[in-house]
Amino acid sequence: MAIQSVGVIGAGQMGNGIAHVFALAGYDVLMTDISREALDKALNLIEKNLDRQASRGKISTEDKDAAMRRIRTTQQLSDLGQCDLVIEAATERETVKHAIFEDLVPHLKPETILASNTSSISITRLASRTDRPGRFMGVHFMNPVPVMQLVELIRGIATEEAVFKELVGVVEKIGKTAASAEDFPAFIVNRILIPMINEAVYVLYEGVGSVKSIDESLKLGANHPMGPLELADFIGLDTCLAIMNVLHDGLADTKYRPCPLLVKYVEAGWLGRKTGRGFYDYSSEVPVPTR
Ligand code: NAD
Repeated sequence: MAIQSVGVIGAGQMGNGIAHVFALAGYDVLMTDISREALDKALNLIEKNLDRQASRGKISTEDKDAAMRRIRTTQQLSDLGQCDLVIEAATERETVKHAIFEDLVPHLKPETILASNTSSISITRLASRTDRPGRFMGVHFMNPVPVMQLVELIRGIATEEAVFKELVGVVEKIGKTAASAEDFPAFIVNRILIPMINEAVYVLYEGVGSVKSIDESLKLGANHPMGPLELADFIGLDTCLAIMNVLHDGLADTKYRPCPLLVKYVEAGWLGRKTGRGFYDYSSEVPVPTR
């Protein structure tokens, strides 16, 4: 089956990037969200990001215009029924994802491949709640999607080999590199990355270092391009906490205990860049450390 049309569920940080790269690679994209505002914001952002790529000479203005023309939006999940591939990139909460699949599945063609961009939830479990565990996979993009080269491909226990191969081809077609990961909590990248971020929050919580000294230490001392707290704000503190909880529950090891300070920030609604405040305050031009 040749995949031509791609449905994207969720127009947040990841959804807009996924729509962007697929449209640029020539796929027809239909993006949906429960929030009209999120869809409008995503379209604006995609246009801005494509403009930036055009101004840097990475794509032509014709490519940009063609990509924008290939993206449509809808608030009706059922409109995605005719897509060949549907990628779910909604909020990282299992109940939200189950509800989406339950509503979507009756509208899908039998051959449609379903995928989730989840950072940490079991692909096998998500797949088992659909009518097509064999045609269900994890397709885990990195943030920001247009910039990051890697896509983790995660097979659930029932995923058919042909579906995996088809998606390896899709990842190639959008110009990215696939890494195959087994279906264990948080896969490869986040299994390593998020506990490091959680440890940085512990270091802050215990007063070992300030936001500035922690981020500077990892940038200058470990050659990381971003400090762990800066990166946490970028990913979203709610997403970081959700991943720690999945690791804690899924691997049943106390070493994955979420830091209480991370929990408190999320309870306060200080979720990082997307809410204007996290470990940094983003209300002025230059982000200001909050501790
Ligand atoms: P986000 O909060 O920026 O966006 C989520 C979007 O989903 C919101 O616009 C919300 O309105 C929408 N949504 C919620 N319920 C919905 C529903 N029932 N139907 C349609 N839309 C719905 O989150 P995000 O950072 O884009 O993360 C999305 C997914 O991608 C999560 O599963 C996350 O784990 C994964 N992910 C995130 C990152 C990251 O760095 N942020 C990286 C890789 C994967």
